[in-house]
Amino acid sequence: MSADNPCVLVVEDEPAQREVLAYNLEAEGYGVSKAETGDDALLLVDEVEPDVIILDWMLPGVSGIEVCRRLKANSGTRNIPVIMLTARTEETDRVRGLETGADDYVIKPYSVIELMARVRTQLRRVRPASVGQCLTFDDITLDSETHRVSRSEKPVKLGPTEFRLLTTFMEKPGRVWSREQLLDRVWGRDIYVDTRTVDVHVGRLRKALCQHGGNDPLRTVRGAGYALG
Ligand code: CA
Repeated sequence: MSADNPCVLVVEDEPAQREVLAYNLEAEGYGVSKAETGDDALLLVDEVEPDVIILDWMLPGVSGIEVCRRLKANSGTRNIPVIMLTARTEETDRVRGLETGADDYVIKPYSVIELMARVRTQLRRVRPASVGQCLTFDDITLDSETHRVSRSEKPVKLGPTEFRLLTTFMEKPGRVWSREQLLDRVWGRDIYVDTRTVDVHVGRLRKALCQHGGNDPLRTVRGAGYALG
């Protein structure tokens, strides 16, 4: 699995259901983190920065509703899509009524195929390249299926690392990425790479993007990292 694959956090106290979900998500090529309780979920969110959270409503201790409410009240986690799993229609109504800010609701017993489709729908929004969407930023176009990049309709040749860096930047224009966050996303958190390596590859990416002229679209943010635009 490559480091820039989307990560899904599964919060479910029922072991069998948790494993079925994890198995199916892994089969889709996603990274999976698992939590059994709301408290664990809140800790893991900061640690793994998931792209999507599947959150069971009924959990021991902190309920799914409360977890969702806290995630949506925090500016650092607000934009992570939350798919709530609820047991009955009445619960779904109640969850909706409580306005937890969940992005989607799935009623148990659910079809795994249906749930996977809902996950893809959320990823299309937050990680468009991971589901094969074309990305554009100003005059730059990145096709995540063919791995072709162009600027002002002229082809830009990139190495695999620069391609992944650009994908990361283009999925969230304007976001400032620290070198450590880029290492996690592009190289993977299990591999030891010096943060200066990031500077080297950002430099290569800049050079490639400017090879036909045009402004440097990448911004160095002193003491913080890099951003596109
Ligand atoms: Ca449960």
